[in-house]
Amino acid sequence: MASRVLARLAAWASACGLTEVRCAACGRPCDPAAVAAPGGGSLSPHSPVLCPACAVALAPRRGGVCPRCGAPQALPTLPDTPCGRCLAEPPPWQGFRMHGLYEGALRQLVLRVKFSEDHAAARLLGGLLATACADLPRPDGVVPVPLHPERLRRRGCNQCLELARLPAAALGAPLQPGWLERITPTRPQTGLSRQERRRNLRGAFTAHPDVRGKRILLVDDICTTGTTLSRAVECLLRAGAAAVDCAVAARTPAHPDRRP
Ligand SMILES: [Zn+2]
Ligand SMILES: [Zn+2]
Repeated sequence: MASRVLARLAAWASACGLTEVRCAACGRPCDPAAVAAPGGGSLSPHSPVLCPACAVALAPRRGGVCPRCGAPQALPTLPDTPCGRCLAEPPPWQGFRMHGLYEGALRQLVLRVKFSEDHAAARLLGGLLATACADLPRPDGVVPVPLHPERLRRRGCNQCLELARLPAAALGAPLQPGWLERITPTRPQTGLSRQERRRNLRGAFTAHPDVRGKRILLVDDICTTGTTLSRAVECLLRAGAAAVDCAVAARTPAHPDRRP
């Protein structure tokens, strides 16, 4: 009797779409037998799932990029060889982790997190970033790249803070959004050359004295030239941080200075 009731309930839930499995990236219903966990991990009952097409489109980028800054390498190189720019001017951070290049499905996902306050997209992208950071040393604090208070008021939330939650939880480290502040309302970096970006961000950040002696993981959503990360890391190191690792969800595929 009870099993018949349960079977009817299951049929009713299915007819109402209550048991439908939807892809966390494209939102389309998908076959529960064909779904994959983001980042290629194992499926768990409460984690988001991806349809086969999105699992391929959002697979982590492996190889073919500079291990120090994530820039795509034009020619095949040895796995640990930095790009020419990082050799000439080594970045101030220690470890660098990214999920993938800022294009296709990953670009769409990053934009959803940035402009739509889409918490499901932030959880998905944060989970991908947590997987990318899994082999980093445990930091004393995870710091999102901050927005200036004016921009934060306009936008409603800092997407980097949302992205930093899952990497912090996975690494067992506290989120420390107060360790770095943006004190100058800089104009957006889009369309600026590398020199202009550096000038635009001069004196943009200030670090809390608590960073002294700490190992920090700095989280950003998009890395274009690395200027924002460099300025933020330099500020943390000047305030006495012991070391800073960086994690970015996406790296732009072409360097703006090298675009035709
Ligand atoms: Zn999908
Ligand atoms: Zn590089």
